[in-house]
Amino acid sequence: TIAYLNGEFIPLEQARISPLDRGFLFGDGIYEVIPSYGGRMVGFTQHMARLANGLAAIEIGCDLDSMQWQIITQRLISDNRALLGDNIGVYLHVSRGADTRRYHAYPQGVSPTIFGFAFALAAPAQPDRLIHPGASVSLTQDLRWQRCHIKSTALLGNVMHFQQGAQEGNAETILFNQQGEITEASSSNVFIIKQGKAFTPPLDNQLLPGITRQLVLKCLSLANIEVAEEAITVDELMAADEVWITSSGKEILPITRVNGQIIGDGNVGEIWEQVFTVYSQQKFEL
Ligand code: PMP
Repeated sequence: TIAYLNGEFIPLEQARISPLDRGFLFGDGIYEVIPSYGGRMVGFTQHMARLANGLAAIEIGCDLDSMQWQIITQRLISDNRALLGDNIGVYLHVSRGADTRRYHAYPQGVSPTIFGFAFALAAPAQPDRLIHPGASVSLTQDLRWQRCHIKSTALLGNVMHFQQGAQEGNAETILFNQQGEITEASSSNVFIIKQGKAFTPPLDNQLLPGITRQLVLKCLSLANIEVAEEAITVDELMAADEVWITSSGKEILPITRVNGQIIGDGNVGEIWEQVFTVYSQQKFEL
């Protein structure tokens, strides 16, 4: 595949960065993953806003504006479409760059490393509850740091939580804090439905402000479904009629089992079908 590195488009296997890059040594960087289908991106403007927020939060100066990012992203999609097919995720990454020494403080006068590559995404699911099998997740205490709103490349905490779910044969791991409230999942946000109403945890430092979460909030409103950004306890999750997890790669994934326990009646829900139908139809315009 063709990748982007510091101003050039090159074959991915020829991309080289310094081992002193602080992304490599410290996980000192910010990233985004933007989904595209048939060459059309979902949530590009929102992904750019979050990228800018993340870079500002960790004081990485990056000269690229949204228009330049769009050109890079579109080219990664178009140059890789013959190889990867119609469903493509674009990974964009800015790390602080290579210092001459391994010193914790932010170095001055170092250029950031700007990297992008494209990968094949799974084909989108059909918004039909009768054919969607539903997915299973693990549930465990959130043991990550307290700056989860920053989309940092330092993902070990997330990776370890995801791995637990994978080892238990599950698609994801939903996390709860010390108060027994759901934060998010290791690489997705969480929604529940109870008596026809949707709930998702409010944005704070305990979770990533997911772009899909933001788009799903719009779809809920388009579908005239009442929604509250409110704390969800573990007990409320387990007693929900429907549970969904959302992310750029998974879109809206209905969950029918949590830690082996059946959610609702064990089938993919009607509200999921309703909201995912709206999402599938509108996702390029949201
Ligand atoms: N939470 C975490 C921890 C994530 O890593 C992700 C996606 N990478 C999400 C939520 C979902 O975010 P988005 O909808 O922007 O993909």
